[in-house]
Amino acid sequence: MTRADPIDVLIVGAGASGAAVAWSLAETGMRIVCLEQGDWPNPTDYPSTTPQSEFLQLGPFSYNPNVRNRPEDYPINVDDSPIAIANFNGVGGGTVLYAGHFPRFHPSDFRVKTLDGVADDWPVDYARLEPFYAENDRMMGVAGLAGDPAYPPKEVQLPPVPLGQLGETLASGFNRLGWHWWPSDSAIATRPYGGRDRCVNLGPCMSGCSQGAKSSTDLTYWPQAERAGVELRTRCRVRELLVNDEDRVTGVIYYDAD
Ligand SMILES: Cc1cc2nc3c(=O)[nH]c(=O)nc-3n(C[C@H](O)[C@H](O)[C@H](O)COP(=O)(O)OP(=O)(O)OC[C@H]3O[C@@H](n4cnc5c(N)ncnc54)[C@H](O)[C@@H]3O)c2cc1C
Ligand code: SF4
Repeated sequence: MTRADPIDVLIVGAGASGAAVAWSLAETGMRIVCLEQGDWPNPTDYPSTTPQSEFLQLGPFSYNPNVRNRPEDYPINVDDSPIAIANFNGVGGGTVLYAGHFPRFHPSDFRVKTLDGVADDWPVDYARLEPFYAENDRMMGVAGLAGDPAYPPKEVQLPPVPLGQLGETLASGFNRLGWHWWPSDSAIATRPYGGRDRCVNLGPCMSGCSQGAKSSTDLTYWPQAERAGVELRTRCRVRELLVNDEDRVTGVIYYDAD
């Protein structure tokens, strides 16, 4: 069903990037609408709140949509792909199930052709992106340890996630070999942050954090974007982009919940 509904900016998908773009444009005062095929996730439904946790992770909370098979998922053919699909379809997108591992690219990653003779150099460098990395880190709330010599100085909002036995074992092995290591940045609230409570370190992050400590964009960008006037329509699957004679997208056709 089509609906004549003029808007200034249309975003398809309320995942990681859709959320950040919606929030970053909100202050322009433009009319911004986001269409998301899934629903708002409900943290009380996450597997860790039930004794069937491991079972649910293999079914309705699998990160493979072909296994999850919810109404908002469509099958993805990976027969010819070297990698398998992993995602979540709903507000927050993949960040609902992600691990929250949040490293920035190293400055050298932007110059691999020059430095290593492989692939290509990026048309932008780390310094150009740094203010955006920093803004995203503040919006998400990043835990880490300042001073990693692999980066120029950067701000860290929260103390690092504890290494745990596995991390400490790896770290002592690295120390014996004389290898550089550093606690990874994580988008996890190790202290209360942005109205969210702190992580309790029990570890089921990759099936949804019912504590709300893991920074998924349904909890970080979206509430702020909506308060700033962005309209988010859930259970709306875009079927088709409409294109004019100049090959410019002028709108979409989508199915709403009904
Ligand atoms: C299990 C798992 C672990 C991960 N771990 C990490 C990690 O530790 N660190 C890290 O940096 N990244 C991690 N990722 C990857 C990260 O989550 C993704 O890179 C990121 O979410 C991609 O953002 P995106 O906006 O491109 O897409 P998504 O976040 O996937 O959002 C796309 C959205 O668009 C919607 N959509 C798609 N098609 C339509 C349509 N036709 N109509 C309407 N809506 C539509 C989807 O429902 C979805 O909500 C992980 C991902 C998974 C699944
Ligand atoms: S509280 Fe911490 S360990 Fe538990 S799921 Fe959330 S982020 Fe992961």
